[in-house]
Amino acid sequence: MRKIPVYNHPAAGWPALASSARKLMSFNAVARGSRSVLRGNQPEGGFDCPGCAWPDHKSPKTIDMCENGIKVVASETMATRADADFFAQHSLKELQKWSGYQLEHAGRLSEPLRYDSAQDRYVPITWEEAYQCIAQNLQQLDNPNEAMFYTSGRITNEPAFLFQLMVRSFGTNNMPDCSNMCHEPTSVMLAKQLGIGKATVTLEDFSRAKLILLFGQNPATNHPRMLEMLAHSHHQGCRIISINPMREQALFKFRNPQKPLHMVASQSDKMVDEVVQIRIGGDAALLTGVAKWLVANDHINTDFISTHTAHFTALEAWLEQQSWADIEQGSGIDKAQIITLATLVAASPATICTWGMGITQHVQGEDNVAMITNLLLLMGMIGVEGAGASPVRGHSNVQGDRTMGIHERPSQSFLDNLEKVFKQPMPREHGFDVVQGAKALIDGKIKVFMGLGGNYSMAAPDCKSIQQALTQTKLNVFVGTKLNETMLHPGANNIILPSLSRTEKLTTAKGVQFATIEDSMCQIVPTQGRLAPISDALKSDAQIIADIATHLFTEDRSLDGHIPWQAMAEDFNLTRDYIAKAISGFEDFNQRLQAAPRGFHLFHPARVRQWHTKSGKAEFVVPQYPITYGQAQLSDSANYAGGTSSESHWQLTTVRSHDQFNTTIFGYEDRYRHTSRRDVLFMHPDEIKRMGWQVGDQIMVTRQDSKQQQRVLGPLILSEMDIAANAVAAYYPECNDLIDLDTHAPDSRTPAYKSLNVVLEKVGSAAA
Ligand code: SF4
Repeated sequence: MRKIPVYNHPAAGWPALASSARKLMSFNAVARGSRSVLRGNQPEGGFDCPGCAWPDHKSPKTIDMCENGIKVVASETMATRADADFFAQHSLKELQKWSGYQLEHAGRLSEPLRYDSAQDRYVPITWEEAYQCIAQNLQQLDNPNEAMFYTSGRITNEPAFLFQLMVRSFGTNNMPDCSNMCHEPTSVMLAKQLGIGKATVTLEDFSRAKLILLFGQNPATNHPRMLEMLAHSHHQGCRIISINPMREQALFKFRNPQKPLHMVASQSDKMVDEVVQIRIGGDAALLTGVAKWLVANDHINTDFISTHTAHFTALEAWLEQQSWADIEQGSGIDKAQIITLATLVAASPATICTWGMGITQHVQGEDNVAMITNLLLLMGMIGVEGAGASPVRGHSNVQGDRTMGIHERPSQSFLDNLEKVFKQPMPREHGFDVVQGAKALIDGKIKVFMGLGGNYSMAAPDCKSIQQALTQTKLNVFVGTKLNETMLHPGANNIILPSLSRTEKLTTAKGVQFATIEDSMCQIVPTQGRLAPISDALKSDAQIIADIATHLFTEDRSLDGHIPWQAMAEDFNLTRDYIAKAISGFEDFNQRLQAAPRGFHLFHPARVRQWHTKSGKAEFVVPQYPITYGQAQLSDSANYAGGTSSESHWQLTTVRSHDQFNTTIFGYEDRYRHTSRRDVLFMHPDEIKRMGWQVGDQIMVTRQDSKQQQRVLGPLILSEMDIAANAVAAYYPECNDLIDLDTHAPDSRTPAYKSLNVVLEKVGSAAA
């Protein structure tokens, strides 16, 4: 195992270039990958990076992709194929033992396949046979709600629109998507408080901000091009504070590979000024302290509050009731430091709050988002240049998919519009999200599972139970570009359909098609692949959906009201015309794209202080959970298991390494955390010393779940990290089997991947 030296360099720089080159080679993608990297995020004819959802910068450079974007492209453009020959050599039993890393490197899926239990192998199938099998199994269901249709954020707007239309024409809203597991608390609370569940800022606001609060986010790994913007903001005199239980190494300095002086003269730009190292799950408590001090000392924007908000008095009363003792205990930060932070907020004329999973993936995830929004409203920081809410999403078109209707809880107005445009009834009953869908699968209520991209069983909690449940279905269908764990647990029928990647050219009878995505800041951006497809047998996501719909509704066209599936798959301009009719904000969609080849910004009512909320005002919300919730849970579990928290009861948070993208493992090198393995447990050196343990010791992790079942992970190898006291970290998705399907935020049902109470036990010493 390659020993990773302690990393004390600025983020990015030469190591980023070296790592990108290594990935292009390890994925056998030097030729196709390098050509693609030059087109990534480029205007007019480039493709939008299929990585995270950080917006494209206005002045693109020759290479406008980050290291992690290049890794995603390398895996999409590899020349290796996972074709019939590959599957002839590898039985399913063997592939089930492969790691995510090995499956990712197996090659691009390049022809339709079905699982043959007699041979225990995937074997080729024709597209027609596949479609007939899918249509028959769906048509034979007693109820459309016995089917579930999962979507990953890789899917662009046009196929996403077609997919929701097909699923609703079939008669169900069972459309869980990856957003359920990540920013659902953001969507739920921003919609409640501001009237729309999306970021209020644009990229330009980062250049004008005077204070940026970075909550629960590690941009160096999860949105690397954000570093350039943070360095730019800092250079403009903006103060940047990270609020996080972990003092991530790569937060402070950025060596910009695009700046020759940085690369040859070892210069770098400053980014984060300081870290407020809260307890895990301590965000709401910290923000309560800041808000309490601002209100008590009248450092709030009373004009904005009286003109634009509702429920201030309820929040004010609640803040008064919160004791500083609880605030300090809940946040892990002392009053003096909280007041220092509050004075910075009071003094700032333009404040941006930006956040990632460290805010949302908690039982109290909705409270965390509510308190961030409350703070912005107290200071009147919505609808102001250089200020606002900036949730950053982790998958390129996860926001676009939601806007296109991939939502198990669609609004009535959205369904009304669909019915008006397509002249046929749409299902009104809310469908299953990720957690409900998993429970329905495990309870045998789902007979057909379809995944449009993604790795559902690994991304969701309770992975093994979901994988076992998939073996009990009548049919599982996977549309994707690469092999993954979820595809290896066959039901009665199991079909893999290979699709074009974002980097590959989509040519139809109507010519070369371009698609669109929506980034985290509501920018609609065109994307067009240029590479020749890795196989002639590939089809676009849109074509696959149209073909399934055509087969599904052939018998009884009254079901789909004669929707022109094939025409929409062949001509994305036609699909966009339908989107323009059905989805508000997309009027004249094609004309606007012609007028603005780099794309356009969707209208955001809150940016102009129009509040489409229940009250017609921006709404303050009082949190549901006590601000000491996290700590209370810990002592409860300690009491339950009859121990003292400081000894063996800890809060565990999950993290992504620098060599992965969501559940996809590109490699084992997490250089900013000085490790090259994934079976690690990160702990603060002082805590390791306090426990009498040492780096390298083997630790078992046990969790008592909400049904009092024991869930065990390990042994994990102890490793150092600058993380808060009584807290440990380990990798996602390896920790997902520690999480049950009932430990989630209340309304959004986003699983609590970021705060789990666990017991640690040393079971082995570091190798001598
Ligand atoms: S920041 Fe995100 S979207 Fe941009 S290049 Fe990197 S991975 Fe891709």
